[in-house]
Amino acid sequence: LTGIYQPLNMLGFNYREIRQAFIDMEQMVSLAALKPDIVDAPDAQDLPPSEVHGADVAFEGVTFQHDARSTGLREVSFHAPPGTTTAIVGPSGAGKTTAVRLALRLIDPQEGRVTIDGMDLRQVKQASLRRSVALVPQDVALFNDTVYANIGFARPDATPEEVRKAAEDAELGAFIDGLPNGMSTMVGERGLKLSGGERQRVGIARALLANPRVLILDEATSALDGRTEEAIQATLRKVRAGRTTLVVAHRLSTIVDADQIVVLRRGRVVERGTHAELLEKAGEYAALWRRQTREH
Ligand code: ADP
Ligand code: MG
Repeated sequence: LTGIYQPLNMLGFNYREIRQAFIDMEQMVSLAALKPDIVDAPDAQDLPPSEVHGADVAFEGVTFQHDARSTGLREVSFHAPPGTTTAIVGPSGAGKTTAVRLALRLIDPQEGRVTIDGMDLRQVKQASLRRSVALVPQDVALFNDTVYANIGFARPDATPEEVRKAAEDAELGAFIDGLPNGMSTMVGERGLKLSGGERQRVGIARALLANPRVLILDEATSALDGRTEEAIQATLRKVRAGRTTLVVAHRLSTIVDADQIVVLRRGRVVERGTHAELLEKAGEYAALWRRQTREH
């Protein structure tokens, strides 16, 4: 890791920023350079072009353990049809992040398979996968660079028009137009400070730059004020349209309209259904829901 931190350090990042940036890049960008165990299979293929909006995503009997003692994920199966939203919920340590990492193919399952449009991710060229699956991470790292660079680094070959479009779709257009130098305005220590909501939108814009068919949202744990949260949720509802979305939700109020909710506990799927179905069941989800609604 120090090999990575060193050059970033010279660019004037402090340690926390570097660490966060590293986490973020790990999630956003191909891990090829850092994880030589994830390489294209010799016969890897591009995902076939899709006729439908979104892609079909499936976990089929997926087991992943980090080590002998970790629960990781155990025999997890679910199917997310094209254009639908699947929420993944569960207590801390249930396996939500592990599921996200598998869907992005940052790790490979030890048993079972993850598929997109029926293709095992291990058979898909990583470049093709990166164009099809994008993550909006929990915490968005910003670099001491322009707004343009902060969005565009996610896809270096993007045209200025594409970067602008991604920013607009993330509803940063008016914000950018109000900046002294528009997209060329510096952010970070030597420039403007972005609010929590603006950072989230930069994260959304980065993800949209790939025009992904599968969008993975790892809901921010840091509290945004109520109105900002509402506005971000409204943007996300728009960008979800026509894509298959997996959302790791911490606030269940944001996923009541999900097509399905997968409830994980200790690495296993313990319940699956819509919000209404799961409340009816009066099980694990209903208990989580009661606990959260009591808190407010
Ligand atoms: P969640 O995101 O739902 O909180 P995680 O997917 O992070 O859960 O973790 C699921 C399980 O895997 C937990 O038991 C956790 O302790 C274990 N785990 C996660 N990451 C690692 C790791 N890097 N090494 C060992 N165990 C891990
Ligand atoms: Mg997690």
